[in-house]
Amino acid sequence: MNAFPPHSRVLPAADQMTEAERSRILAKAALFAPPPLLDEQGRRDLVGLSREELAAEMAEIGEKPFRAKQLWHWIYHQGERDFAKMTTIAKPLQSKLAERFTVGRPGVAAEQTSTDGTRKWLFEGRDGQKVETVYIPEEDRGAVCISTQVGCTLSCRFCHTGTQKLVRNLSAAEIVGQFMAARDSYGEWPTPKGEEGRMLSNIVVMGMGEPLYNYENVAKALTIIMDHEGIGLSRRRITLSTSGVVPMMDRCGAELGVNLAVSLHAVRDELRDEIVPLNRKYPIKELLDACRRYPGASNARRITFEYVMLRGVNDSEAEAHELVRLLRGLPAKVNLIPFNPWPGSPYKTSTPEALQRFAAIVNDAGYSSPIRRPRGRDILAACGQLKTESERARRATRDENPA
Ligand code: SAH
Ligand code: SF4
Repeated sequence: MNAFPPHSRVLPAADQMTEAERSRILAKAALFAPPPLLDEQGRRDLVGLSREELAAEMAEIGEKPFRAKQLWHWIYHQGERDFAKMTTIAKPLQSKLAERFTVGRPGVAAEQTSTDGTRKWLFEGRDGQKVETVYIPEEDRGAVCISTQVGCTLSCRFCHTGTQKLVRNLSAAEIVGQFMAARDSYGEWPTPKGEEGRMLSNIVVMGMGEPLYNYENVAKALTIIMDHEGIGLSRRRITLSTSGVVPMMDRCGAELGVNLAVSLHAVRDELRDEIVPLNRKYPIKELLDACRRYPGASNARRITFEYVMLRGVNDSEAEAHELVRLLRGLPAKVNLIPFNPWPGSPYKTSTPEALQRFAAIVNDAGYSSPIRRPRGRDILAACGQLKTESERARRATRDENPA
């Protein structure tokens, strides 16, 4: 990408810096690019291609653009993976497609279901790298929590994923594929009409990894998921959680317009520097300014501030009051997450009394502040518990620092 597109020449200096920083972040993301989409027989996976790319593939094999539209419908509306079952396509073309293309899904390496109904999959990419995906059912709907990276460059102290180095970014195919494979598991194909009554009705981009450090693939995947002629999930049903990659938040808001969740977790820079190390780069004030600019945020569509409750670390009454002060004027709600322990984790969950007191202060100030009920703890599927065995091969040229 061009670091300084023509219009940026007239931008104020601060914006030019942000643009330069965005370019750096995107260049860094490219270093951890996923492997190509071809299988052993050289066939290309059609999942994860944009509409334009799909049309280009059809043009390449001498087919008309409407074929791309037909395929889109079969792949994302019907959930069909077998070209031979795509009945609106004549047999000779079915064979031609099958010779050159596949309609893939990530491989399922393991699947577990919690006593509370939460389901977790361990998915395996073609290169053997693994990520986890979680489905959290509610009575008449449910959210799929998808991952965006194998590991994470950041190392938030309370997070299990943060102990796993970044191995690589996931491709758009692997990101969309997690949701499609979850739908396979519940047989929710073809895509139900309208958005009501779906079992897999929402997406939270809150699994492994920092989505805004893999922005291009995440954006492509979410654009596919939001397409009306396919999966058709609206941006209101998608929430992207970031630990605060400020320069990318503006782009995410402008281009995707999905709901935003921000992992705040501390109200003072000193503490946030320690538990969310990205704070040293983008401190609380800059983060909250980016939230104020976030397009589409309103009282009807609030920004969620996630706050993991760590016993004796960030859960005092004074901190609750400070949180209220910081959020003043922002269309915000607060999600209090009781800390979910993992093997070797250095913190304890706040006591129920501390949780209640904290929630009451935030609530009395007019911010909704539900305490998130932990789901799937028995199978290590709750927030911050995801981790896989994938390790990065040694490469001397890559460093660990974010962007
Ligand atoms: N990287 C993104 C999204 C993934 S983490 C982010 O940090 O926002 C999803 C949420 O789970 C974040 O709010 C994260 O801070 C929280 N989390 C991480 N570890 C946790 C733990 N052990 N207990 C509870 N929540 C945790
Ligand atoms: Fe990465 Fe988010 Fe975990 Fe921090 S909380 S280490 S950003 S996945």
